[in-house]
This record gives sequence, structure tokens and C-alpha cells, in this order.
Amino acid sequence: ECFALVATRGEGGVSANWQSVSDASLGDGDVTVRITHSTINYKDGLILTGRFPGLLRYPIVPGIDFAGEVIASHDSGLAPGDRVILNGWGCGERRPGGYAQRARVPAEWLIKCPPQFTTAQAMAIGTAGYTAMLSVLALEDHGITPDRGDVLVTGAAGGVGSVAVALLHRLGYRVIASTGRPEEADYLRSLGASEIIARADLSEPASPLSKERWAGAVDVAGSHTLANVLSMTAYGGCVAATGLAHGLDLPASVAPFILRGVTLAGIDSVMAPRAQRVRAWARLATDLDLAKLAEMTVTRPLLDVVELAPEILAGKVRGRIVFDVP
Ligand code: NAP
Repeated sequence: ECFALVATRGEGGVSANWQSVSDASLGDGDVTVRITHSTINYKDGLILTGRFPGLLRYPIVPGIDFAGEVIASHDSGLAPGDRVILNGWGCGERRPGGYAQRARVPAEWLIKCPPQFTTAQAMAIGTAGYTAMLSVLALEDHGITPDRGDVLVTGAAGGVGSVAVALLHRLGYRVIASTGRPEEADYLRSLGASEIIARADLSEPASPLSKERWAGAVDVAGSHTLANVLSMTAYGGCVAATGLAHGLDLPASVAPFILRGVTLAGIDSVMAPRAQRVRAWARLATDLDLAKLAEMTVTRPLLDVVELAPEILAGKVRGRIVFDVP
């Protein structure tokens, strides 16, 4: 028997119940995983509150991330007992996700948990942290080395932001953290930020070009925030766009692209090719300070996810949350 959190949409909105589900409803795939840990990402918040703008069919077992142990495998590369991580691929969105005791997925979707991490630490990283790593890789691939200048992180006290700050600091960048929570300044400095700026400084409609302030940026916000970030990016710089916490729109001009040669790098974690995931997780294993990961993480029982969903959307969750799956 297997239990899962099943979200259904009714007249009163979306509700979720921990209930017994059939083995067949776990989905298709050649590997079955006993899930030990999961986490909450912004997208899980959208799905659990019925605010997800994409295609979604309820009832669904949410949870875009999980980690655990292989219990059955028809794939030669994975054996029972192997510790594995899953991020995205539509799990918790278009097929059953991580808020369950078990999952079944194609082997090529699973990443072996690096020996440096427990499965709980892998979920402390989760999609948010792996997306932060993909963003840092994009900056590196565009030649943004620490000597080129500062790097800005928006939504710095959130999940993607917290991991991005810690990674960039460890890699030798001088990090500017933008936050709407000035009370988190000490937290952000402890993760490695050298300078804190107010979210409001970047949220009004942007000029086409402003004074050059950073060589690179990791943006989780979109909308006017991203437009401002681009307008203040130095000549030849690069901005990794990962999110829509401010808005899905992009009211910007082409001036930063055609007058400063700025690159806007799009980051997608959900369908990212396997090679890119393997690269990101290998780099997380070497470049993420585990003491800083612990500092940004709290552990909660899985069923708390229901009350946490509106909180993450309201920008009230700091850093990362790990769920112990019962
Ligand atoms: P999160 O933990 O909720 O962090 C989002 C942060 O954004 C908040 O903590 C807040 O940080 C900031 N924020 C909130 N409202 C804002 C506003 N109106 N303007 C500017 N900043 C605002 O969520 P997350 O898991 O880190 O995800 C962040 C974003 O990245 C989400 O939009 C998510 O959908 C996206 N994402 C995309 C991918 C991908 O594959 N592209 C993967 C993961 C996440 P402060 O309080 O510090 O300002």
C-alpha cells in the first residue's frame, strides 16, 4: 500500500488529502523509488492553491521534486538501494509527483544522489537550488568571471536566491542581494552577500539604460524588476532569467542588448537535458557550502505543505524547506 497527497479542485478551490493510492496510479516508468524526502518550490505553491497558469489536470499528486531509494528497477544503470534525485520532467504537474511514499519514472529522469549529499540535503537543494546552479553555469558560460564585476541576485531571501548567493560567494564573486525583506539582511550577509539593496529599487518601470552596476545577475522576478536589472547590467554582461515572482511580463527595451551587448540567458529546470542536470548536480556537490545550506533550510513534516503553499507565493518563506515523507 502506498499513501500520497492528492490535490483535487472543487467548488471551494483546491484541497489536498493524504490517502491510499493504487500502485497503477504511480505512473509509468522502469524505476520505482521509495521517497524519503521532498520539498516545496514556488511552482508547488501555485499548483496547491489552484493558481498555476500552465496546463494541469486535477486530481494530481503534487511535488515537482523528490529524493529517495530505488526499490525496483528494469534499468541496468540503477539497482535497488541506489539513492536518486528527481527534479521536474512534469512530475507533480502533468504526472504524479513527490508528495507520496513512492514514485515510478523513466530511469533517464533520475540523477544519482552525489555521495556528498544525504537525500535530505538533496531536497534542501531541490529544483530551486539546481536552478540556481544552472543560472551560475549560464553566467560562467557567458564569460562572467569574478574579476568582471559584481553579480546581483534578486529575490535573494527566497529558495533560488539563497542558493545563488551561497554559490556565487563560494566561487569568489562579490554578491549584491536584492530583497523585499530588509530584516533578512543579516541572513543574506551570512550566506555571502556583500551588499543588500531594496527590492523596491528595481520594481518601478525601467529606463532603457541606466548606470552600469553589475556584470551579471540571477533574476527570479521578471517584469519591471528584470527590465531594471538589464538596464543596469555592464557592457558585455549576462543576466540569467529564472522566474516570475514579480510578473510574467517583460516591459523592457532592446537598448541593453544592442548598445551594451548584454545577454539574457533563459533558464529552464523542468525539461533541461540530462547532461546539463548531471553537470549542475556535480557542481553543486563541489561548490555548495553545506554549512550555508543548513543555515537556509528548515525541515517540516510533509503535510505542512498545505499551509506553506500560500506562504511561499506571498514571499514569506525564507530559504528552503525539506519535507520528511512518512
Ligand atoms: P521563493 O522561495 O518563493 O522565492 C521567491 C522570492 O522572490 C521571494 O522570497 C522574494 O524574495 C522575491 N519576491 C517575491 N515577490 C516579489 C516581487 N513582487 N518582486 C520581486 N521579488 C519578489 O521561490 P523560488 O522557489 O525561489 O522560485 C523563485 C522564482 O523562480 C519563481 O518565480 C519560480 O517559479 C521560479 N523558478 C523557475 C525555475 C525554472 O526552471 N525556470 C525553477 C525554479 C524556480 P525577497 O523577499 O528576498 O525579495
